[in-house]
Amino acid sequence: MGSLERKLKRKQDKKSRRAEKKVATKIAQFQKLPDKCLTCDASFDKKSKEFAMNWRVVVNGENVRLYCKECWSSACNILEDYMEEKNVSL
Ligand SMILES: [Zn+2]
Repeated sequence: MGSLERKLKRKQDKKSRRAEKKVATKIAQFQKLPDKCLTCDASFDKKSKEFAMNWRVVVNGENVRLYCKECWSSACNILEDYMEEKNVSL
């Protein structure tokens, strides 16, 4: 193997290692995913696609918060009301 080849290979290794780290972070976040809604304690089915599509995950650094469909939409309404009250728009 020529030195250039070796260099290229090293570069690729670095790249794939970074990608692995990203995946690892994702998995860690997923494992930290709560199994119920933060607000109403409704249980979340991690295996259900429908749940995954309708529920909202909010990641804030180390904290992973989970909101069910109802709580998320009511949270949005509260936020809208608040914005209206303060006379600001998104
Ligand atoms: Zn809820």
